[in-house]
Amino acid sequence: MYNVTTSEKGDKMINVTLVGTGGMVPLPNRYLASCLIEYKGKSILIDCGEGTQVSLHKGKLSMNKIDTILITHCHADHITGLPGLLLTIGNSGRTAPVNIIAPRGSTHILNSLLVVCGFLPFQVNIWELHDTKSQEFQQIGLKITSIPLKHHINCLGYSFELNLRPRFKPEKAKKLNIPVKYWKNLHNGEEVVIDNRTIKPEMVLGSPRKPIKISYVTDTRPVKAIDKIVKDSDLFICEGMYGDNALLDGAVEKMHMIFSEAATMALNANAKELWLTHFSPSMPFPDKYINFATEIFENTVVGKDLMKKTLKG
Ligand SMILES: [Zn+2]
Ligand SMILES: [Zn+2]
Repeated sequence: MYNVTTSEKGDKMINVTLVGTGGMVPLPNRYLASCLIEYKGKSILIDCGEGTQVSLHKGKLSMNKIDTILITHCHADHITGLPGLLLTIGNSGRTAPVNIIAPRGSTHILNSLLVVCGFLPFQVNIWELHDTKSQEFQQIGLKITSIPLKHHINCLGYSFELNLRPRFKPEKAKKLNIPVKYWKNLHNGEEVVIDNRTIKPEMVLGSPRKPIKISYVTDTRPVKAIDKIVKDSDLFICEGMYGDNALLDGAVEKMHMIFSEAATMALNANAKELWLTHFSPSMPFPDKYINFATEIFENTVVGKDLMKKTLKG
């Protein structure tokens, strides 16, 4: 029997972990903002500030599976953990390359930083993305879209999408007398010919499904372009540098956001869930300010280090 559930198992699941939730300065129990996205045995790390590898270690998250490191921007709190992380990965005997993807103008900064690594037993590929327009590319089987943000230096927001096949409808296949041995081909989108009858996949599949979508936005003012990557996200991870609305002026000056601005974006873009991150060190207990977000967007969660969610298709 073609087991529809088993056939989809494993390839329709993304794990998202907040590796750290701090902005600017790590605190004893709060590492710098970073996020790990795991899919099919590989992972993408977003940003790598000081201490990121310690938090990965605490969370028992494999560093060796990191295929790509996406950098939002080259401020110290987002990149200075790179040499240590790469050296640790090197010590594990890794030989497969590590890709670092960052905004335009980052290569010379990253290369300067990586000089201290000395020898690494794998290739480090650095790719730059546009800083003035959106870009789409694929890594580890996920479609990634970058968009330029508004910060002091070139900074990018990212979304991650996993396409989901329509569900297989056994009742339709039975009605058409299609032998079970062809079900898998049809579910994979292939046409099959049975006794001169051409069976098209759409004859036995359900309606198209929305991709699983995650978006990640830190270090920016809330510019309109962000809506594109946040639109219909299952999980929107966004900076909330300050909680209290009274701190808006400071956020504008420092090119960051307050909770209510992140919540407004989540609401306007029809996100399902909002996780706040990248908290100011002046705000050791961000939970105290949750109301500033939830009165606008109810399904808001104040991020904590090593908070994890599995998104299934
Ligand atoms: Zn930052
Ligand atoms: Zn920054």
